[in-house]
Amino acid sequence: MTETEKLFETRKEISDYNTSYPLHPSDWSTWKVSDTLSFDDVDDLSFYIHIPFCQSLCRYCEYVKYKKTSDSVEREYLDIVDSDVREFMGQSVTGETILRGFDIGGGTPTALSTENFAMLINMAARYVRRIKMAEDFKGSIEATFNTIDENKIAILSEHSDIFSRISFGLQSTNCTFLRDNNRDNGQTQRMADIFHICREQGISTINLDLMYGFVHQTKEEMKATMKVVERLMPEHLTVYELRTNMLNRYPIATAEQRFEQYSYLYDLIIGLGYKGRFGMNTFSLIGDNGLSSYLQHRMMKNGSYKGFGIAAQSKNDTGLSYNIGKNGESLKSCLSKKTFEKDGDSYKLPPRELLSKYVAISGYCGMFDLSVMENILHLDPDIVFEKELGFLLNNHYIEKNGTMLYLTPEGVLHYGAVLSLFYNNRS
Ligand code: SF4
Repeated sequence: MTETEKLFETRKEISDYNTSYPLHPSDWSTWKVSDTLSFDDVDDLSFYIHIPFCQSLCRYCEYVKYKKTSDSVEREYLDIVDSDVREFMGQSVTGETILRGFDIGGGTPTALSTENFAMLINMAARYVRRIKMAEDFKGSIEATFNTIDENKIAILSEHSDIFSRISFGLQSTNCTFLRDNNRDNGQTQRMADIFHICREQGISTINLDLMYGFVHQTKEEMKATMKVVERLMPEHLTVYELRTNMLNRYPIATAEQRFEQYSYLYDLIIGLGYKGRFGMNTFSLIGDNGLSSYLQHRMMKNGSYKGFGIAAQSKNDTGLSYNIGKNGESLKSCLSKKTFEKDGDSYKLPPRELLSKYVAISGYCGMFDLSVMENILHLDPDIVFEKELGFLLNNHYIEKNGTMLYLTPEGVLHYGAVLSLFYNNRS
């Protein structure tokens, strides 16, 4: 057995190898720097705002979030985000800057009070209108059914030329799952009503998020969830695999079970008329790839992005940073700093680490691009990864078309091990 085969066989059994990179935050301690990540020379980027408040906290959630507090605390949070964006705009945005995308996520942005939600959307739109938007710009905002209402949709619709996509977390409709995970989606009829209002108000694209990878998730449960999808028929559908890298003792299905769950969902999704290659996690009814332009730019093109708000991630061609809040700091402590941009974690990364991050994120799409890899490495990836590519192609874990590498079904089954062969050796 070659070294590559041995590595692959070992990593097949380790669920930590997934789309999360680095495997452990301490893996990057060597590259930690005190300077914040500069975007002064970046003229092509996307924005993200993190709203960390949720109505209730789902047990399986890895994101940085806090239980919704008072309107005045939300307001304080938004004032700091506004000030951070304003400072960034003054420092790093010029007449040449092109904005590729703008996502607002969390947490749950729609958990804000109506007044604060209006403040957020108007603030975001005000900044976007000062920058040249890319032609394929499609801003997106995350929502839950139990926090959205007609008023918030109306606020969004005033800027539907910017935020033309809304993404609802559904995950599952199974009552036991929802109860065990402290989650509430509400009635299907209300979801249908919300969809109807969104469409009436000019939101062109609705996405639904589903999840799989739970230990007791059955085919019947997934079929019932897909019945709700069939009733709603969102333009985009995203299926997330449960990740537990940051969760203590949360049970996860085996790689084989997860593959079976994904395959089952995939057949149902394609059966409804959605398009998407086996191995991708996004599907579309409208001829695109099912992503907001922020996600497309970030995941598929390795583009630069600037994140605002607690724990928001930013990346450029030299490194990556997290705003304050990533390491479990309390909301009060973060707010007391009056900016989320200082005292976070910044990493100046060598090309091999940047490449590892790109490959991990591209794993969501079940594909990655040798030309993007070459741009990151400034070396020919066919030569750098000659052994790994030979092994993966010969064993039909991936297939090649031009510069694109696609996971085959066998590669999807062991996708963590496939991606890990391109990771820097230290991880
Ligand atoms: S609503 Fe979303 S962000 Fe909030 S806890 Fe649940 S999964 Fe996490």
